[in-house]
Amino acid sequence: MSGVNLYRGRLAPSPTGYLHLGHARTFWVAWHRARQHAGTLVLRNEDLDRDRCRPEYVTAMVEDLRWLGLDWQEGPDCGGPHAPYDQSRRHAWHVAVFEQLRSSGCVYPCVCSRKDVLQALGAPHAGEEEPVYPGTCRPEKRPQPIVVTDPARLRHRDAHGRRVNWRFRVPDGERITFADGAAGPQEFVAGRDFGDFVVWRHDDVPAYQLAVVADDHAMGITEVVRGADLLLSTARQLLLYHALGWTPPQFFHVPLMTDERGTRLAKRHDALSLRALRAAGAHPAEWGAEWEAWLAQTLPA
Ligand code: GLU
Repeated sequence: MSGVNLYRGRLAPSPTGYLHLGHARTFWVAWHRARQHAGTLVLRNEDLDRDRCRPEYVTAMVEDLRWLGLDWQEGPDCGGPHAPYDQSRRHAWHVAVFEQLRSSGCVYPCVCSRKDVLQALGAPHAGEEEPVYPGTCRPEKRPQPIVVTDPARLRHRDAHGRRVNWRFRVPDGERITFADGAAGPQEFVAGRDFGDFVVWRHDDVPAYQLAVVADDHAMGITEVVRGADLLLSTARQLLLYHALGWTPPQFFHVPLMTDERGTRLAKRHDALSLRALRAAGAHPAEWGAEWEAWLAQTLPA
């Protein structure tokens, strides 16, 4: 290739708590890959969850990532050609993407609450993954494109004034495959491994799946580096890329860090927050070499 470098990666933390060592390792890998490719790294503040995101966590995440030694070329703190880099300020773009899905007939309104879904399934739900939606509100046939007279209102209310979530209708039985740069070949079956998923929420906020696809595409991301807990979400996101007629990026899902009991690290592991480690005198410059060796070992042959 010519001297033009096209690699664009991103760091996409949600400011719902302090970053911990597990985030640090995943973000370090994202930063390292962008450097290896002499590419551009984008910091995107995924602050859509109004109840859980807090401005002090946004300040803290920028500070902690810098303390870790990472740098990025575009972001909420430094601007760039794809601003704004705070997802909460990208509503108009998210609406436009939702409207594209709605006008192509691949989403339908759903009045089920989470409790309704669990009751319809008749079983308590264990684990972090969304249960497969039992199809209560799914139209018999593929929904026709919906002609909307009052688009803003009808994004979160149906004609009877009930609150609705909009779900993407998945092609039941279809295999979704992709080659993950870190986790190797992946295969999921729509309707079995995951069901119709929410793309627009009843509080008029885009769901994670829609927002992340909309923004990775708009920001020209060529490789998504993130935790392996999102592998199944990638299958959902690939369906969105397809429905929108967009080329998906490459994916690189980093194995998650666990504690000594094998439990995945979470923001609640306060002792391993980067703040606590900094206060305890940790030197992140020493972690890079260790993580590089670990990464080389975990990659597929
Ligand atoms: N913001 C998401 C999180 O913190 C990650 C999104 C992504 O990397 O796709 O869990």
